[in-house]
Amino acid sequence: MAGNIFDDLRDRIDIVDLISKYVPLKRSGSNFAGCCPFHNEKTPSFIVSPSKQIFKCFGCGKGGDIFSFLQEIERIDLWDAVKLLAEREHLNLADYQINSYKDYHKDEKEKLKRMHKLAQEFFTTKLAENPQALQYLKEKRNLNDETIATFGIGYAPDSFSDLLNFLREKGFTDEDLLQGSLAKKNEKGDVFAFFRNRITFPIYDLMNNVVGFTARVLNPDEMPKYLNSSEHRAFEKGKILYGLSHAKPHIVQEKKVMIVEGQMDVIGLFRLGFPFWVATSGTALTENHVKTLKRLTDTIYLLFDNDSAWLQATFRALKLFYHQNLYPKMLVLPEGIKDVDELANKPEGNQIFSSLLSSSDDGFIVFFERLRKTFDMNSPIDKQKFINSMFELIVSMDNVISQEDFKRKLADKLWFPIGTINIQFEQYQRGEGKFFLRQQEQQAHQEEPKYKIDREALFDALFYKEFIKNLIQNEDFLSQFFAFGKVVAKALPESLLAEVIQGKIDEEQQKELTELQLWWEGEIGKYQDQETRINVLKKLLRGAGKHTKLQLYTQMSIKSSYLTPEEKQELNKMKLKLVA
Ligand code: ZN
Repeated sequence: MAGNIFDDLRDRIDIVDLISKYVPLKRSGSNFAGCCPFHNEKTPSFIVSPSKQIFKCFGCGKGGDIFSFLQEIERIDLWDAVKLLAEREHLNLADYQINSYKDYHKDEKEKLKRMHKLAQEFFTTKLAENPQALQYLKEKRNLNDETIATFGIGYAPDSFSDLLNFLREKGFTDEDLLQGSLAKKNEKGDVFAFFRNRITFPIYDLMNNVVGFTARVLNPDEMPKYLNSSEHRAFEKGKILYGLSHAKPHIVQEKKVMIVEGQMDVIGLFRLGFPFWVATSGTALTENHVKTLKRLTDTIYLLFDNDSAWLQATFRALKLFYHQNLYPKMLVLPEGIKDVDELANKPEGNQIFSSLLSSSDDGFIVFFERLRKTFDMNSPIDKQKFINSMFELIVSMDNVISQEDFKRKLADKLWFPIGTINIQFEQYQRGEGKFFLRQQEQQAHQEEPKYKIDREALFDALFYKEFIKNLIQNEDFLSQFFAFGKVVAKALPESLLAEVIQGKIDEEQQKELTELQLWWEGEIGKYQDQETRINVLKKLLRGAGKHTKLQLYTQMSIKSSYLTPEEKQELNKMKLKLVA
């Protein structure tokens, strides 16, 4: 039996190496710096420390180790991060006692994923056993075996208890089944299968775990047409894109991704020979979706259903993408074709779709044309409302150059001089045109967490694992410094400093201190010669006012009954020397 999977992975993987695959890093003293992948910034405040094997952004405050980095950037949970890293290192998880991952057995998410995996196996087996359901898929929906297998399509039998009994035998409780919404409870308290006599489409997370299902009726008279799993701990709809786990390699290869509304559209496009499509699973597009896609490509295509919700869905989606500095193109289905599924059933579907793709236009322009038709452009008020709506899109762009570009496009489309548009735009931005959008954004910005150095704790960080020895090579200064710490620890046995020196701190405090050390390294490590380093340190210790930690510890120690009068006098001298 091997040791601890976390330790083994930490030993094998260099955090700089791992992060460099996502973020370009440059050496900066003993650390590496880059622009933070978790917030928008132009000057790097994202620091990676090879010696401590941690990262920290001094802009937004995110920080952690290889596991937390991977969780954050891939949007996966801890266990999936472990799996991914173990795979990369060719470690076999079966060799480890899994309870080294302390929450594993308690982890509801893992249990839900295991349960869904089994349910998926159950549904696909049932499909193979049911000629009627297979016939429906092949003849009515024109799906062949390859498509059925690729998308893991299955069949939920017309039974209230078959699936439940199957899962109960595997050790799952009714509580588990209800939580994963594979079962429902009636008023009498009976638990029964949620999906019955339906075609099932599994929904995968980014790590290819089945986390939910969409189930379509077999009999067209039944309602509702689709039933969807409810959200649970392993299934957050705002984070999951239908088809992404299949589409990911194609998206990377083709360098583009396309977004549609429903899973039948994704399957239709797969049939047409375009496998790089994803759909939101029963929810509107979210910022999380956009960020997930942004990591794969910056070429985005949107194709929304030709219905009354088109304008609203498009407006919302464009703003989300613009805010991430992405500028999607839009496809519009030809008249008379209501959705992609229908197109996929036409013999010339592939050709029609290819030409749609190559003639797709900028989303801004497509939206402009459609929105204009809903306004009376002879009415000055309507005209202004229309222009303001377009401004709302421009304001959401996270880039001044793009804003200028799109203002010019707008001016061209409206046959206005650019000067007129600029004046109107300024008015709009001052709030004279309105809108609630900007207020919302300002609020969002305010809510963004900002990292603040805990100046109180800075001093203690210098003592943690005698960290300061890495930076200062002056023996005289160091011995004074550590002697000072020793006396304070004696005087104030309850202080953080005493705990740090005795190594009696918890994980949370360790983490905090290591981050503060990283900050120190940035401040002092910039200077090469020792004299400057000591001066920078002294300046930090002196602080602006009298309330530095050094000052505070001295004052408190002098009042302590644990020290002799001589020790107190000595302490005062040491303090003065340290800042002199
Ligand atoms: Zn950041």
